[in-house]
Amino acid sequence: MIQEETVDVIVIGAGPAGLFAAQVCGSRGLKTYLLEKNKSAGLKLLISGTGQCNITHAGKIGDFLSHYGDNSRFVRTALYNYSNENVISFFQERGLRLIEVNNGKIFPETLKSRDILSILLSECATNKVCIKYETSISGIVRSEDLFKVQTQDSTFTTRNIIICTGGKSYPKTGSSGDGYQFASQLGHSITQIKPALTSILIDDFPFQICAGISIPDAIIQLYRGTKKIRQTQGDILFTHKGISGPGILDFSRFLNPNDTIRLSLTKTANSDEFEKSLLEQIALNGKKSIKNCLSIYEIPERLLLAILEMNQIDPTSKAADLEKTKRKALVKHITALEFNIDRLGGFKEAMATNGGVALDEVNQKTMESKLIKGLFFAGEVLDIDADTGGYNIQFAISSGVLAAQNILS
Ligand SMILES: Cc1cc2nc3c(=O)[nH]c(=O)nc-3n(C[C@H](O)[C@H](O)[C@H](O)COP(=O)(O)OP(=O)(O)OC[C@H]3O[C@@H](n4cnc5c(N)ncnc54)[C@H](O)[C@@H]3O)c2cc1C
Repeated sequence: MIQEETVDVIVIGAGPAGLFAAQVCGSRGLKTYLLEKNKSAGLKLLISGTGQCNITHAGKIGDFLSHYGDNSRFVRTALYNYSNENVISFFQERGLRLIEVNNGKIFPETLKSRDILSILLSECATNKVCIKYETSISGIVRSEDLFKVQTQDSTFTTRNIIICTGGKSYPKTGSSGDGYQFASQLGHSITQIKPALTSILIDDFPFQICAGISIPDAIIQLYRGTKKIRQTQGDILFTHKGISGPGILDFSRFLNPNDTIRLSLTKTANSDEFEKSLLEQIALNGKKSIKNCLSIYEIPERLLLAILEMNQIDPTSKAADLEKTKRKALVKHITALEFNIDRLGGFKEAMATNGGVALDEVNQKTMESKLIKGLFFAGEVLDIDADTGGYNIQFAISSGVLAAQNILS
């Protein structure tokens, strides 16, 4: 027999967005059900930051805004309303210190994501949130000003729903895109969905031998056809199948198959400037081998040798003997090493999803739908994806809190 229950709020999905939203609703005295399709909560949270959970970032919250692609306006209210400092205090007050580990990344002192999850579950329990596991939602029906949330064996009736079902990446963790379907059934538009925070894959990658080499702060340029679309700077990593590293992962939201990227392996992408500098080096050190002459540019040796080989330049040959045509080709390969993108890593390996519930149909000051009263969205189900560094979980938390605070009691 199908059971029917009526509650004040239903939160769907027990990731960071849903757990934060639910515990805030509970703390406001709202009868709150958190429905999760897995046997346990926060599977993606547990694997985040390689199991250590890079939960947020250090610094001023205003500096976060540029880390959400073109969506800084949308995330602003949520982030200012519940900032990185609020997150740090929340856990600190509950006995878990958060520390800055490298380049501003904030982790629990214990370096265990499980400790973050335990506090969230305990806070849900304190605030009398009823978490129902193995409860997969099959549909949400709007009837007058109520929602009927249907599962296999129950129907829950409520005036307020917060959809926190996450994106589509790492589907084994439970986020398999169900929220897009619910939102779309309720009349919302879903923007194009694609993997984000993922690597570039290149068929017959000519630099397989360089796998493991990283270049700090490389200049990365994106070309579509002959048109330059964007440029960024970040650490890159050569892999067996292509290119990865934070600089590429963060840039991947802008990339498509068949795009071209150009990497500068030195401090400048300006080929004239680099050639001038190279000519000065050759004038000073013409008797040295070309490999030694180029060492000043700090290009990792294995990569430099691969580039010299590609240009049929003997690394032991005298720098002064470098022919003009070979010099020009070498300068191009060092300042704008070009790769055509065959594919981007798929949803199985992407750390985030680009696309989701269209932002122009959601009020960024409350996270409520502009189309249906009482319907809220939080976290990665929205068309928001951020750079690596703790910005994704921070937005999940901030948007979950904002939605919960705006539910009418
Ligand atoms: C390998 C990896 C490492 C990462 N590391 C970091 C990091 O260090 N820092 C960072 O900021 N970000 C990191 N991210 C991204 C970050 O984990 C996500 O952006 C974040 O978890 C999104 O939170 P969310 O609550 O919106 O969704 P999720 O965490 O995806 O949670 C969604 C929940 O909804 C449930 N659900 C889905 N559909 C249904 C349904 N029909 N019925 C009931 N329940 C449902 C799912 O089972 C899941 O529990 C990482 C991601 C990956 C994959």
